[in-house]
Amino acid sequence: MSEKGEKTAEIFAIGNELLLGIVQDTNTHWLCRRITGLGGKVRRAFLLPDEPEVVAEELRRALQRKPDLVVTTGGLGPTQDDKTLEAAARALDLPLEEHPQALAIVERRYRELFEQGRVDSPALTEARRKMARLPRGALALDNRVGTAPGVLLRVEGAPTTLVCLPGVPSELYDIWENALQPHLERIFGKGFYLERTLVVEVNDESRLAPLLRELQQRWPQVYIKSRPKGFAEGLKILVTLAMSGERSAVERTLAGALSELKERLEAEGLPALELPRA
Ligand code: ATP
Repeated sequence: MSEKGEKTAEIFAIGNELLLGIVQDTNTHWLCRRITGLGGKVRRAFLLPDEPEVVAEELRRALQRKPDLVVTTGGLGPTQDDKTLEAAARALDLPLEEHPQALAIVERRYRELFEQGRVDSPALTEARRKMARLPRGALALDNRVGTAPGVLLRVEGAPTTLVCLPGVPSELYDIWENALQPHLERIFGKGFYLERTLVVEVNDESRLAPLLRELQQRWPQVYIKSRPKGFAEGLKILVTLAMSGERSAVERTLAGALSELKERLEAEGLPALELPRA
């Protein structure tokens, strides 16, 4: 938890393919949107190689900062380079052991995939069993799309929940939106987030600067960000106001800041249109 009482999170996207630039890391962006949407604050995000000692070291550092949530993506599969759980076990000083609930998930998924004609055999080979070896004390999260269960660990003596999710985006989304939901409700509680965006007809951001600086001083709780798109004729600038916290306070404060921004833009003769809410 931050000094302001916000729930904090860190994200680890793991995979050599990300660092080589072969695959673009979209999971971090997706997770940032989800965590922010729950009223949480993502404080750090990392891109890390498939090297358990590097991941374990960064995980240890993250745990010392005592965030409420650490999410890793990637490295849960059956191949030799999938070592995220080894890294988590090292960081937490826990043994890796076969987990009956995880094994049941892996077994069920291969049986389903075999029945759908998508794999040659439902047999629990050594490579497949590997995905059911979890750090001691972990909870297995059902994966209804792929085969590797997600993994949840509540760190002993700390506020942190560590969640390890697969790298394949559709698997990550499935676990987040289903098996992980009750845990997210526990972590983020009644957290609430709202953002509103205006499209302002001005192509020179510096014209907005004094106005936005003043607005920021008057509404320090609101995150205010202008996003220019260059200087070409007819271009527009997006101005986003965002805030998280208790719902009624967020709605009241953001409405106040937004109406003041609209008034100020009108007074400056700058036409602005509000984007529909996402
Ligand atoms: P599985 O259990 O399905 O094998 P995994 O956890 O082992 O998943 P990885 O092998 O690390 O996942 O990644 C599988 C694929 O998912 C990658 O080749 C890539 O296409 C995609 N992927 C991995 N990480 C990311 C990411 N951060 N953003 C977007 N796509 C990703």
